[in-house]
Amino acid sequence: MTDCLFCKIIAGEIPSEKVYEDDDILAFKDIAPKGPVHILFIPKKHYATLNDIPEADLPLISKIHGIVQKIAKETGVDQTGYRTLVNTNKNSGQIVFHVHWHLIGGKKLGPMA
Ligand code: AMP
Ligand code: ZN
Repeated sequence: MTDCLFCKIIAGEIPSEKVYEDDDILAFKDIAPKGPVHILFIPKKHYATLNDIPEADLPLISKIHGIVQKIAKETGVDQTGYRTLVNTNKNSGQIVFHVHWHLIGGKKLGPMA
């Protein structure tokens, strides 16, 4: 999608600090980290929100969570703990409308709002 920030990151038109990439998924550091580790995981295919991933593509979510496991281990937060979350639409505070998973860790996190 031409007017999407994360599609531009995938295309290399906007720089990012990549931590993982394959044919389907890109993971990169959040520009405004909420903890010592804050990584975003995105499908390379554009879906605006979690609601927009069709049933046929749901295995992608499983694949993303597999990469989350791997990166949590590599960044050393797998045992100390981390939070994985997906914001969806207005009440969640979603800002970027290309579905993404946050991985936040490296410190004690506060309670969920
Ligand atoms: P959300 O509120 O779930 O839509 O989160 C969007 C996230 O994208 C925020 O945590 C932002 O800090 C992050 N973000 C925005 N622009 C960039 C960028 N150019 N590179 C990396 N992360 C970004
Ligand atoms: Zn996009």
